[in-house]
Amino acid sequence: MNNLEHNITKVRARIQYAASQNQRNYENIHLLAVSKTQSAESVRHAWLLGLSHFGENYVQEALEKQKALKDLAIIWHFIGHIQSNKTAAIASHFDWVHTLDSEKVATRLSNQRPRSLRPIQCCLQININNENTKSGIGIERCEAMASAIKDLPGINLRGLMVIPDPAQPDNQLQYSFEKTRDTLTHLQSRFPDLQLDTLSMGMSRDMELAIAAGSTIVRVGTDIFGPRVHASRPHPETTDNRGLL
Ligand SMILES: *Cc1c(COP(=O)(O)O)cnc(C)c1O
Repeated sequence: MNNLEHNITKVRARIQYAASQNQRNYENIHLLAVSKTQSAESVRHAWLLGLSHFGENYVQEALEKQKALKDLAIIWHFIGHIQSNKTAAIASHFDWVHTLDSEKVATRLSNQRPRSLRPIQCCLQININNENTKSGIGIERCEAMASAIKDLPGINLRGLMVIPDPAQPDNQLQYSFEKTRDTLTHLQSRFPDLQLDTLSMGMSRDMELAIAAGSTIVRVGTDIFGPRVHASRPHPETTDNRGLL
């Protein structure tokens, strides 16, 4: 028995409630279904239930699913750690990248983006607590990074993404989300010509806090698809975001 429909209804209700609690328009909060480790059949089922944005963390796994689902106009988001040797595949097979954290990767994605496609939509990943994970840049580097990559033709900088440690207490999570929002506000004032309209923040456990702080994309896996199927051996790309699997 699959509860997918029930789960999606519940997640949508939570988003709607959090939006109303914070005087926000529900339409401005997009639901990204995180489908890592889930089967292509589950993704197809979720699509039939009305979801159209899906997030994947591992390139190889995503490409296999995309092949099985190429009859659907899914909008694919890459939300995993970006290895330089995977940028060509990401540039050709994704509409969005949430985890940009270096000028080098931005340049590669831009150069490798097929000219037949519109620029790839990007968020800079913020390392808000200066955690010892290597992913993300400190907020003090955001402005310089935005300045360095804003004119690359193959990418379109849309905003910021953050993954605070979900084990933190609520007030810490709230602080991280608000700090990320304030950083975006600063970038908007510095770069008024850019389309900086996106805050990718909030997951199953903390989406309400993220919405309260202004999130425009919540990335939800577990509360849509149920617990993830664990790989039997360490995944070669699981060098980062490991705590999230
Ligand atoms: C796995 C993952 C999610 C989804 O997390 P859940 O707690 O299952 O909702 C969101 N964002 C990123 C970057 C992830 O890796």
